[in-house]
Amino acid sequence: MSKQAEKNKLERQEYGSHERFSPYGIMASYGFSAKKALGQNFLSDMNIVRNIVDAADVGTDDLVIEVGPGLGVMTALLAEKAGCVIAIEIDRELAPILEPLVHKYPCLQVIYDDVMRTDIGKLIAEKREAYPDLKRVKIVANLPYYITTPIIMMFLEQYASILTSLTFMVQKEVARRLVSPPGSGEYGAISVAVAYYSDASVCFDVPASCFVPRPKVDSSVVNMSVYPVPPIVPRSPDNMFRLVRAAFAQRRKMLVNAISNAAFPGVSKERVSEALDKLGIFRTIRGEMLGVKEYAALSDELFE
Ligand code: SAM
Repeated sequence: MSKQAEKNKLERQEYGSHERFSPYGIMASYGFSAKKALGQNFLSDMNIVRNIVDAADVGTDDLVIEVGPGLGVMTALLAEKAGCVIAIEIDRELAPILEPLVHKYPCLQVIYDDVMRTDIGKLIAEKREAYPDLKRVKIVANLPYYITTPIIMMFLEQYASILTSLTFMVQKEVARRLVSPPGSGEYGAISVAVAYYSDASVCFDVPASCFVPRPKVDSSVVNMSVYPVPPIVPRSPDNMFRLVRAAFAQRRKMLVNAISNAAFPGVSKERVSEALDKLGIFRTIRGEMLGVKEYAALSDELFE
């Protein structure tokens, strides 16, 4: 091994003490090249890594699930602080970089699979059985940009009842969309879902210069504190989200038209208008003006 490669490996082992380290150095020493198609933009600033882990408030009672450990820099810090860490990485070529961490931290398990195909419920149940002291389950991730929304929606729709929080980095505009209130230009179906399941906020922004390779856009870290039970629960959340999707599929149209165009059985334009009257909402309103509370009430009116 060359002197530089030795130095890079050493640097990697001691990255906790470096504010800036070199992902290119780590990659070079393992002969690894970042894959754009998998969203492999690695953090190169230890301060940001620490700030993400701090924002997630990770402690020894926590089971942390990290999506996409990459070069394992945040993974190591998580393993130092959490009771258990399950890191799910789609790229098997990262195994030579990640496996030394598994040897170093017995609480760390790395699964090489697509997070969207992983049975996360089963993994959590197994860990909880093996370590009964684990009290909370937290998702912490610097998410791959190409699949951000499906990953967030999967965690909320399938696992909200067993998660305490999600803390993740996404593109800045996506972060704004996730937390935006009704009436703002960025408000969309995903904002309604996020508000339904969690109390969400943007923690801080991260410039593109903190990653290698450098992406074209800046990023933000979002924290979602997941409600143990959502504060507003319609009779059928599925029906409510069907309404929300219909409303935002035609967001420039009035809500009455967007919903009646979706042709839900038995839901005519007149019926939507009457339901809006009953709820004291203007017939001319657009779907982008309504919050979770109004969507839940409208869903209960329309689908009995
Ligand atoms: N955590 C590292 C960091 O902060 O430097 C890497 C973050 S990088 C933005 C995203 C990581 O997610 C990459 O390691 C990539 O291989 C991985 N990834 C991409 N798609 C994935 C998927 N469907 N399931 C699991 N991991 C995925």
